[in-house]
Amino acid sequence: MTNLEYKCQLCGTCCHEIPGEYVKRIPIYPDEADRLIEIAKKRNVDFRIIEDLVFPDIKNEKIMVLTYRIRLDNESKGCPFYSKTTGCTIQDVKPLACQAYPLALKRLDAFNFAISIDPLCNFVIMNYDELEKTDLEKLREIFKEEYPKAENFYRKNKKLMFKIRKLEVTNKIKIPHEINLENFNDYLKRWNRTEIRVN
Ligand code: SF4
Ligand code: SF4
Repeated sequence: MTNLEYKCQLCGTCCHEIPGEYVKRIPIYPDEADRLIEIAKKRNVDFRIIEDLVFPDIKNEKIMVLTYRIRLDNESKGCPFYSKTTGCTIQDVKPLACQAYPLALKRLDAFNFAISIDPLCNFVIMNYDELEKTDLEKLREIFKEEYPKAENFYRKNKKLMFKIRKLEVTNKIKIPHEINLENFNDYLKRWNRTEIRVN
């Protein structure tokens, strides 16, 4: 048993870029992007997304978009849904990545991910020594609310990867196993997009 319990310090670091150090990446799935675009329209928030995880499909000459990321506000360098006074203004509908935070998905290879802890969260920094020693069971205790969200995040990601693999083995798409940057950039410029969605 551990006595440590996750308590957000409400510092807002996770909703902003860390100057000079780190480009903040807040990943969202296409269905989440749709939802946030609708909310932003209603609230007149300047909300924009950038393609994040994409695979080229050389069979159909398309770019498959698996996730987007939130474009940070030019001035505040933060998520456009962040308020200096009240923090996240979409608490009830925030993306899975934010619900799970400071737990995150770490990419192991092209198709595999694992649940990990983001070392840039201030709670994590404050408790680094203890968290470094924790096993999975303890992590579940420390991040009682966030761990199940991280599992949902993991499951959704896994479904997405399975969907891609299935399309691949049934010959509906072809993803190059090796690709040079020049070709990839050329595909990005020329090819249409197709979103890959899962529930
Ligand atoms: S959606 Fe909310 S929690 Fe997520 S980055 Fe934006 S303000 Fe922060
Ligand atoms: S960085 Fe960590 S402690 Fe700070 S607001 Fe984000 S989750 Fe909370």
